[in-house]
Amino acid sequence: ILKYYDEKCTNSKAIYEEAKEYIPGGVQHNLAFNKPFPVAFRKAEGAYLYDEDGNKYLDFLQAGGPTILGSNYPAIRNAVIELLNECGPVTGLLHKSELLLAKEIHKHMPGVEMFRMLGSGTESVMASLRIARIATGNKRIIKEGGDYHGWSDQMVYGTKIPGSRGLLESHGIPRRLYSLTDEVRPNDLNMLESMLKLNKFRGGTAAVIIEPCGPESGTRPVSKEYNKGVRYLCDKYGALLIFDEVVTGFRTSIGGAQGYFDVTPDLTIFGKVVAGGYPGAGGVGGKKEYAGLMAAGVASGKHRAYVGGTLAAAPISALAGYTCIKEIERTNACEIAGKAGDKLTDGIKSLIQQYRLPFVAYNQGSICHLECTGAMSFDFSSFNILKSAVGLLRNKEMMYERKDSMERMGAAYMANGLVTLAGSRLYTSMATTDEVIDDAL
Ligand code: PMP
Repeated sequence: ILKYYDEKCTNSKAIYEEAKEYIPGGVQHNLAFNKPFPVAFRKAEGAYLYDEDGNKYLDFLQAGGPTILGSNYPAIRNAVIELLNECGPVTGLLHKSELLLAKEIHKHMPGVEMFRMLGSGTESVMASLRIARIATGNKRIIKEGGDYHGWSDQMVYGTKIPGSRGLLESHGIPRRLYSLTDEVRPNDLNMLESMLKLNKFRGGTAAVIIEPCGPESGTRPVSKEYNKGVRYLCDKYGALLIFDEVVTGFRTSIGGAQGYFDVTPDLTIFGKVVAGGYPGAGGVGGKKEYAGLMAAGVASGKHRAYVGGTLAAAPISALAGYTCIKEIERTNACEIAGKAGDKLTDGIKSLIQQYRLPFVAYNQGSICHLECTGAMSFDFSSFNILKSAVGLLRNKEMMYERKDSMERMGAAYMANGLVTLAGSRLYTSMATTDEVIDDAL
């Protein structure tokens, strides 16, 4: 593997050697880091990527999820070029594409009566928590162990291991800034109800925020009935239900995970596909009474959830998102990508059996997971061992073990012409043809 990088990726290596001096860690995106060094890419098209040395790869990263139609999809690119010729990338003023996008989202997700576009998923989560606190008058936020909701101070801890409260993903966050965030075990309605009860005596619960397909984009899947149970409990205890659909929105189905599970949240977080693979991928939508709180120009004295962003809802982002959703509708892209995900996963499972490999593969449509079995041993029951210091240490060890094995696998896949998300997730898209899958297998 090392030979591959040394011999075939000399231009990438030169770029990285210099980039290290000017960019922290040599890359601008966490997912771009690859051992022994990151590969620099020049061209993306459909299901393929080409690096700076001209090597060709199968693309199962798909930019981390936004390109459900395949990379650099022509219809979106052409719409954006036309727009650039007319008004450039941004004016800071109202553009009709924003209306088109909001209406299109509402059409496929009726519960999203109003939508405001923001710069990223992280910002959108922050906005939704603010809205929930205003709407309910409550303070606390409940999230699930293992869920990723961006990197804000309130949401950045406990993102990898279910129940790993206190294990911050980042330093530099005083406890006070996340002390109103509670964490529960995913898939455990009893634990959620206990937390909602407890919170009645300590500020009340403003919102329960979940990834509806399970923590880490379904790396730890939840039962189909779970989302309905969470909806019921939110209503019972007067908390808003927030679905983080950054990954699942327009991917799990054109109606998102909320359409797929038939559960309507109070607020929905958007990212990725909502800007069609272009920058400025974020937004919050929901019932008018909640989403309306983000209105600009509200008279002082009225409740208002202030949000901002110089480049939020830039015409490129809104038009690319609108064009993308229209194309998904026209082509049935979610179903096609979902079937490709099933086929890829079935193929991987057969290989695992045939060669008795220490892996486990599973998928929810176009979101596919390939984990080392050893690293998956920290299952939900690990929550219990957190009660002891030894358990905590062991859990931490397993987290690093998983990270290490994933990093090594990611590098090996890359050297064999396969780009994945951090060595353990593979996104399929409409461009993932049978030929691509056969090649990958
Ligand atoms: N929520 C989920 C479920 C995500 O997967 C991500 C990003 N991967 C985010 C929120 C944060 O979105 P962004 O990277 O746009 O800030």
